[in-house]
Amino acid sequence: MKKIQLVLEFCLSCSIVFAQEKDKKIPYEFKSSGNPIISHKYTADPATLVHNETVYLYAGHDEAPAREERYVMNEWLVFSSKDLKTWTEHSVPLRPSDFSWAKGDAWASQVIEKNGKFYWFATVEHGSVHGKSIGVAVADNPLGPFKDARGTALVTNDMTKATDISWDDIDPTVFTDDDGQSYIFWGNTACYYAKLKDNMIELDGEITQVPLPTFTEAPWVHKRGNWYYLSYAIEFPEKTVYAMSKSIHGPWEYKGILNEIAGNSNTNHQAILDFKGKTYFVYHNGAINHNGGSYRRSVCIDELKYNPDGTIQRIIMTSEGVL
Ligand code: CA
Repeated sequence: MKKIQLVLEFCLSCSIVFAQEKDKKIPYEFKSSGNPIISHKYTADPATLVHNETVYLYAGHDEAPAREERYVMNEWLVFSSKDLKTWTEHSVPLRPSDFSWAKGDAWASQVIEKNGKFYWFATVEHGSVHGKSIGVAVADNPLGPFKDARGTALVTNDMTKATDISWDDIDPTVFTDDDGQSYIFWGNTACYYAKLKDNMIELDGEITQVPLPTFTEAPWVHKRGNWYYLSYAIEFPEKTVYAMSKSIHGPWEYKGILNEIAGNSNTNHQAILDFKGKTYFVYHNGAINHNGGSYRRSVCIDELKYNPDGTIQRIIMTSEGVL
């Protein structure tokens, strides 16, 4: 009887996954019905970009088979929207296999525009240098196709040694200041940053560690007025916290929790999006019906509100989202 029950449970689990991951004809247009905003595929580690009044949402694709509790991520996905309600899924814009030196793992990434081109900074597993690395791909438009911009990794595990772990060089976020200088921040356990050359595909000078009281991963840098904001995940399961500074070089003043543990997911990876006069907090949780969790995550969007002194109100995660 127990065996039959297990088989039934397994089949039920399979059918949910297969029902969820239906192939759609690309481009596939759909309306979001709240959070999570995408329900036909699992999406994780969101990053956003606004170009020509359109939001581009980049995400890793969680593909863990039923009953396999591990990250299976073989490609990134891109979605676009002009109103955060109606979305279009486009062709797969990039895979780790597009980096000839990488061997897999489409982990967190961010795409940024500079000098009329779009640069994709992506975490992957390196094929010959032990550990995770950061690569850069480039395209002429936000939908790609993106191509490896260097032929080698921008950052490899052996370039940073603040910790012994092999996954401290992950989760890149790239920010261009008002003077045109671009910076890349990244890390796990230790948070690193460096200048980027104007070509966006080379580091310009030393890698420096950002002193923070505690840091797990998922940095995101943005600026509003004269304040620089560094938001990132702490602890595990993760909460998103943030720090503020008057300089991109710090010192960063820790400001506390921005977003609590996101339902049913150990990770909590944010992008902060300014669009049509409002600011949004884009993150993932594991709360999709009926089969989410840490390895089958889904992107959500809620509003982010500032206080008059520039600090940020705690995010209220909602099921309704921003509809
Ligand atoms: Ca390292």
